[in-house]
Amino acid sequence: MKYIFGPVYSRRLGLSLGVDLVPYKVCSMDCVYCEVGRTTVKTLERKEYVPVKEVIKELGDFLSASPPVDFVTFSGYGEPTLNSKIGKVVKFLKGEIPDIPIALITNSSLLWQKDVLNDIREMDLFLPSFDAASDTVLKKINRPVSAISVELLKKGLLNLKKETEGKIWLETLFVEGLNNNKDEILKIGEFVHYLEPDRWQINTVDRPPAYNSKPLSYEELEKIKEMVKYPATDIIVRKSTENRSSFTSDFKREILDLVNRRPCPIKEISDALGVLQEDVEKAVEELLREGRVFKVKFGNVFYLKGKEKK
Ligand code: SF4
Repeated sequence: MKYIFGPVYSRRLGLSLGVDLVPYKVCSMDCVYCEVGRTTVKTLERKEYVPVKEVIKELGDFLSASPPVDFVTFSGYGEPTLNSKIGKVVKFLKGEIPDIPIALITNSSLLWQKDVLNDIREMDLFLPSFDAASDTVLKKINRPVSAISVELLKKGLLNLKKETEGKIWLETLFVEGLNNNKDEILKIGEFVHYLEPDRWQINTVDRPPAYNSKPLSYEELEKIKEMVKYPATDIIVRKSTENRSSFTSDFKREILDLVNRRPCPIKEISDALGVLQEDVEKAVEELLREGRVFKVKFGNVFYLKGKEKK
């Protein structure tokens, strides 16, 4: 599978089948905390970065076996809405597999564009980011293309709320020393109250980041939650899933598909694939010996990173 990956266990979505509509590493931002890597093509240009005909074929083939999937999620290597044909994939899913909800993980940078909203309006759940309430902080944390400002991000998010019916779980990722000063937190909070998303999800750096950036502690996130006082606030925490039987045969390939996209600890691979941790450890030992993965330490945890980029 070239354009779909998983199902991956995600803290927010359960078992989520990922769809990747842009190649490594095309994005409209170059966030310091990005777990995918440094952006190599920073752009706002919409085009068919990967052939959606093939994406649709992969989705159709995979989902026809009725795998246990909670969401089909547009995410992956970069900003999914940059693909100008994303609407075609949404239409296919809604027409052919209407029972599986669709989610979009987006950095919010294109939501002010009418054609983008038209493409995504039938989706069930939006997980847009909003990390900064001032342009100075935006430039430091998200490092977007120069045309993107906080005002434009706010406009897009307000349009999303007004013109679509899907739920909105707004995410703010806090980075030590960048967006966790009192003034910035209160301004972010003010917009959260104004937008009224279904959930406000606060997060911090928890995987090896693209650039040097430090996480906040859980206690600091709790303090932010208390300061902002938005009733539907979640601090994102890990939880595990029931073990399930693996339904694809190439186990090492499944691990590589996960860790080539983002660094994962062993425990998370085991949760995502629904197999015993000791089995993952054995496969990982082989992958290490074969030189196809390597280990990175972040905080006190070792992450496994793949060497292949598509
Ligand atoms: S975190 Fe998301 S928006 Fe930021 S650079 Fe990475 S892929 Fe792009």
